[in-house]
Amino acid sequence: GREWHLVARPHGWPKSTDFALREAPVTEPDEGGVLVRNKHFSVDPYMRGRMNDVKSYTPPYQLDHPMDGAAVGEVIASNAEGFAVGDHVVHGLGWREYARVPARYATKVDASLAPLSAFLGVLGMTGLTAYAGLFETASFKEGDAVFVSGAAGAVGNQVGQLARIKGASRVIGSAGSDDKVRLLVEEYGFDAAFNYKNGSVKRQLKEAAPDGIDVYFENVGGEHLEAALSSFNLHGRATICGMISQYNSTEATPAPHNLALVISKRLRLQGMLVNDHRALMPRFVKDVSGWLASGELKYQETAVEGIEKGFDAFLGLLRGENTGKMIVTLN
Ligand code: NDP
Repeated sequence: GREWHLVARPHGWPKSTDFALREAPVTEPDEGGVLVRNKHFSVDPYMRGRMNDVKSYTPPYQLDHPMDGAAVGEVIASNAEGFAVGDHVVHGLGWREYARVPARYATKVDASLAPLSAFLGVLGMTGLTAYAGLFETASFKEGDAVFVSGAAGAVGNQVGQLARIKGASRVIGSAGSDDKVRLLVEEYGFDAAFNYKNGSVKRQLKEAAPDGIDVYFENVGGEHLEAALSSFNLHGRATICGMISQYNSTEATPAPHNLALVISKRLRLQGMLVNDHRALMPRFVKDVSGWLASGELKYQETAVEGIEKGFDAFLGLLRGENTGKMIVTLN
């Protein structure tokens, strides 16, 4: 089977020569493990950080080793109790065609709930990030006005829709193209949206949220955070989930010049990591599959076909070529 290796650490934007698609033998699963034929794997912004040789909440990718990340597939051989050939599982050995997974790292999923790829997005890690980040980290309550950046992405569109479903007074999103902005309002039911490339984020947010915002869900950083600080009402709360505008920068990025507004407005800015919220998973799957079934929640994926397109998919994600979750589908 083929697998993607990191062969050089990118400086700034990743280049195709930093990666190689290599052949590896497919062997029987170990005792207590399963062999999975991957059907889809996930490419995610956090993987950019793992390409640097720095200690973080996940260890860096090792050079000339297969990369990893979330994947979903079918068990084709089992040496583990409770797992049978034909079961569908989510696990952490993506970026490859075949994965030998210790059973304790594989989670069975109910393929009757949704198409398999959904377990990497709307019913998976990015969905849980939206759910936990809005309801727990931001302490969202009915009547809040919510602003989310990266709003046409996997986490962002779900944040906006969950806020709408739970009774936000106003949901505002920003995204990087006019088509994405239209989708937010017409498909996902945002009250207002704007293209951050069309001018000052601060001014566009003021126009979209004339009565201010109570919750900011931060996916982007930089000018977006400054704009949110400036539009916050008293006692506003921000979930600091990601700052994708900085992931390829080669220089330190300046702090918001208006950070002192945190004091006068008594704001709370709270960082979050989805891994801390795994205990919410059962409630999350129950709620979200219910909203999908009722049609209240919609989702979209951008699927790139073929393992050989893995790098292109990852780069495309950083460039904003995706709408909703970016997925690599193996044929
Ligand atoms: P998305 O599906 O949102 O894809 C990334 C999007 O980021 C692109 O589509 C692009 O959309 C946007 N983007 C890229 N560069 C910029 C830029 N310079 N300025 C503004 N937007 C940009 O990815 P995810 O939903 O997976 O992740 C969204 C955020 O959530 C990321 O910051 C990620 O790191 C974070 N995250 C954090 C987790 C946690 O546990 N803390 C877990 C999961 C995700 P556009 O066309 O609009 O520019």
